[in-house]
Amino acid sequence: MERVLLKLSGEALQGQPGSGGVDPDTLHVIARAVAAAQRAGVEVAVVVGGGNFFRGVDRWPGLDRASADYVGMLATVMNAVCLQSALEAEGVQTRVQTAIEMREIAEPYIRRRAIRHLERGRVVIFGAGTGNPFFTTDTAAALRAAEIGAGAFLKATKVDGVYDRDPRAGAGARRHDQLTYQQVLERSLAVMDGTAITLCKENDIPVVVFDLNTPGLLLRMLLGDWSDGTVIGAEARTPTAETVG
Ligand code: UDP
Repeated sequence: MERVLLKLSGEALQGQPGSGGVDPDTLHVIARAVAAAQRAGVEVAVVVGGGNFFRGVDRWPGLDRASADYVGMLATVMNAVCLQSALEAEGVQTRVQTAIEMREIAEPYIRRRAIRHLERGRVVIFGAGTGNPFFTTDTAAALRAAEIGAGAFLKATKVDGVYDRDPRAGAGARRHDQLTYQQVLERSLAVMDGTAITLCKENDIPVVVFDLNTPGLLLRMLLGDWSDGTVIGAEARTPTAETVG
């Protein structure tokens, strides 16, 4: 049975850019897709970001980096609890596990227990990142993917893949269908931070970057159809780019 790690950024949960917080409709759409995949037999673990509420880099003078990062990690727990509720409304059994203990809200992160939940058909949502400041939720997602033996790291974003330069900066940006981990690292492509991509490389976990807002695409990704995203792996299997602008 396939086991995947889905990474949802906080921004992905907020619906319209700048609207802040969590958008219930967006949450509902995500929950329906995850529920459908789970019913189709896919074991789904989710790592949520927190950028819709707070990110460490948004700190103000006087708020030190580590403190800001702890606030960021707490923000991810709010998203985890909201997603849990949306999934349970779809009839899916879930567990939230947090890397910082808050037992009244969620289970502490225990790797073997997380795997057991997945085997029993529960969706496991990992909150509080890695539990350590100076890391990102992408790194937390790569770490959890490696720990639970996920077959893929599915990164839901607001764009339909990885481009050679910012597609918003003008026409002619090329979208990559496939990339190697090494290419992402060498070209400093803005996919995820180096720690996260290195973890995926070392554990040979394919990373798929795709657009969360394309109707039906999240479910297809969860079911293993990666044709409409950028696939990052040990070696690129086909020509690496298509022109889109
Ligand atoms: N964070 C952290 N350690 C972790 C994961 C997250 O300190 O292991 C903090 C960091 O400040 C980050 C914030 O939590 O900015 C929210 O996570 P992130 O920005 O990665 O969320 P996303 O961009 O996916 O919404």
